Amino acid sequence: PIDPSFEENREQVDEHEGHAVWGPVDEPEELGIHGTHVAVDFDICLADGACLEDCPVDVFEWVDSPGHPESELKADPANEDQCIDCMICVDVCPVDAIDVDAG
Ligand code: SF4
Repeated sequence: PIDPSFEENREQVDEHEGHAVWGPVDEPEELGIHGTHVAVDFDICLADGACLEDCPVDVFEWVDSPGHPESELKADPANEDQCIDCMICVDVCPVDAIDVDAG
């Protein structure tokens, strides 16, 4: 599962579409964690899609990740600022790739 303490254990190495990327990143095999309030571990995400379907405010968008060992699409928290902390995505993700900081 995603490390809920990623902000302490990782360093922000980049920014993508207005949200942080937490390393390490070594493309295409290692993509890090995207987002902070809504954080998705791209190295765990296997493109199940439940978060895209179930998020009531459409926080997630697909991004291509060709060459990644888990999946060639990732659920990007493109609109994390719109999150209402319902926790549905955390509950439906089959591989616990998502952390929402509702505190
Ligand atoms: Fe969307 Fe709810 Fe997840 Fe926030 S916690 S990203 S509102 S499903």
